[in-house]
Amino acid sequence: MPANILVVEDEPAIQELLALNLTQAGHNPVRALSVEQAQMLIRETLPDLILLDWMLPGMSGIEFARKLKGDDLTKSIPIIMLTARGEEADKVRGLEVGADDYVTKPFSPRELNARIKAVLRRRAPQMTDDPIEAGGLRLDPMTHRVSGNGKTLELGPTEFRLLHYLMSNPERVHSRTQVLDRVWGDRVFVEDRTVDVHIRRLRRALSESGHEEFIQTVRGVGYRFSAQ
Ligand code: CA
Repeated sequence: MPANILVVEDEPAIQELLALNLTQAGHNPVRALSVEQAQMLIRETLPDLILLDWMLPGMSGIEFARKLKGDDLTKSIPIIMLTARGEEADKVRGLEVGADDYVTKPFSPRELNARIKAVLRRRAPQMTDDPIEAGGLRLDPMTHRVSGNGKTLELGPTEFRLLHYLMSNPERVHSRTQVLDRVWGDRVFVEDRTVDVHIRRLRRALSESGHEEFIQTVRGVGYRFSAQ
């Protein structure tokens, strides 16, 4: 699944280079030249990750990172800081405000991609292509296949994303709003009830191999994936 990556960088040439690099790595870059622009884009769609330049006109990248990490809506979005300053004190400061990683300019595309991959694997494993297996249920993002005890299960695209998300975060309870944020990525046009509809469809698909009970309802809270 390609990740939507917001690039906040005020130097057009570097922004262009970053966007090109991200596209080549299979991601969807979304670009902002300033914090104001970034805030507008985030209100439209929550990105899966933010590449944030340290030195920006107006509000600095580091202040913006602090703001994002202090807001319930955006605090779970991973942030990689980009900076021309390679000093240890800056790195510590970046990590202190909640940035997940830190890349010093000039950086090689290979290094940046490796860091993006590592952060996504840690913070949003549903964005990587690693197969996941639990209790005989197997989901392979590369081939877009799901099987239960070796039997192929037929899932619609939304059910697939939903299962991918839940299996990537097992044993955790997710509210409908959290599921909407992470699976639909758009808070504006979809109602909470939509989640229930797709959970029902997902359970029906999983019942073919007897795995429907892995999708648990936690009353008054939301849903949980558990193979126990
Ligand atoms: Ca800059």
